[in-house]
Amino acid sequence: MQEHLKQLLFRLLSQPTAPFREQRVIALATAVLKDAGAPFFADPAGNLVVGASSKTDMLRLLRETSREPVRVFIAHMDHPGFHGMRWIAPNVLRVQWHGGSPVKHLQGSRVWLANDDGYGGVGVMRNARLKKHGWSIDAAEVHVECALPRPRPQANRLYGGFDFRRPVWKGGSRLYTRAADDLVGVFCILAAALEIFTKPARIRPPFLGLLTRAEEVGFVGALAHFELGWLQQARRPLVCVSLEASRTLPGAVVGKGPIVRLGDRRTPFDAAYSQVLTRLAEEVLPGRHQRRIMDGGSCEGSAATAYGFPTIAMAVPLGNYHNQGLEGGPDCRGAHGPAPEFVHLGDIEGQYALCLALMRKGLPWHNPWQDVRERLQKNLRDYRALL
Ligand SMILES: [Zn+2]
Repeated sequence: MQEHLKQLLFRLLSQPTAPFREQRVIALATAVLKDAGAPFFADPAGNLVVGASSKTDMLRLLRETSREPVRVFIAHMDHPGFHGMRWIAPNVLRVQWHGGSPVKHLQGSRVWLANDDGYGGVGVMRNARLKKHGWSIDAAEVHVECALPRPRPQANRLYGGFDFRRPVWKGGSRLYTRAADDLVGVFCILAAALEIFTKPARIRPPFLGLLTRAEEVGFVGALAHFELGWLQQARRPLVCVSLEASRTLPGAVVGKGPIVRLGDRRTPFDAAYSQVLTRLAEEVLPGRHQRRIMDGGSCEGSAATAYGFPTIAMAVPLGNYHNQGLEGGPDCRGAHGPAPEFVHLGDIEGQYALCLALMRKGLPWHNPWQDVRERLQKNLRDYRALL
């Protein structure tokens, strides 16, 4: 991976983020896009739209006469974490958890704290209570273990998550981090935008990136965007491309390449457009990609499908999904206890390469099955005499 991209990846993975608390990720993304002169704007829900400078500009792209589909790459900027609720002692914060989480070895585990004024602190979690279904934390106490500024930060502006030796570090070709899900997807979209919008182009690239908020509590940012009805105004084809870090499964192994995600827990994705992606992956990453239904979780691809948009998806295999110690490794507090997520640098590079390949002009979006049909027809010819 080129050095400037690696730096961007590490900077992104160092940002604090939680559902509805994506401001520090947004600040970095906008700074990077501004520096590169790439167009972007915030939609009314605070999602970041990349590849257009305003609603009008986005609609202009969607209404162009063209057979080239607009690729709408989608990734989310949040990660499961907590919001401060109220101070119950001078240094004890009552917190509410949002999204998935580890469910064991919670007592005394280290957490980080942040707010959007630049405050950063650490503490330990105590007295965590799980939700009724038992799959995630509901509420807990955070005992702050560093000096608090005076005046004390407002409780409800603080947020946080599980803390490890560093926000991100390398171990061999693996990256251990608080929140690979889905800052790796955000990275791929930003890196692609930097590549696409810093090159002179004769025609406008059919590229949109949608960096969403609050995915972890049920696609809230993506839904708010779809409800605007802007994408529905397209007069040319469009294809949504969901980018995720997704729980490792048999056949979706960390280090064996990005995954052509044929579906998620809720639904299969568009078969014809997935065929375009499958063929591209065979060409661009021969023997270095994987392909399967990733039903360990659902992604914004199912939200896009539910709104009627043709959707395909990719994923980077993710260890210790949602900071649950499922695969163990460094800084893991035990089975199902807090643990850093981990991903493989080669898988991220592969996903980025596939994003760029998807932008090629003239891909067979309108006739993706032609070569398969020709192969089958040859089989028919060979055997026809025996019919
Ligand atoms: Zn995710």
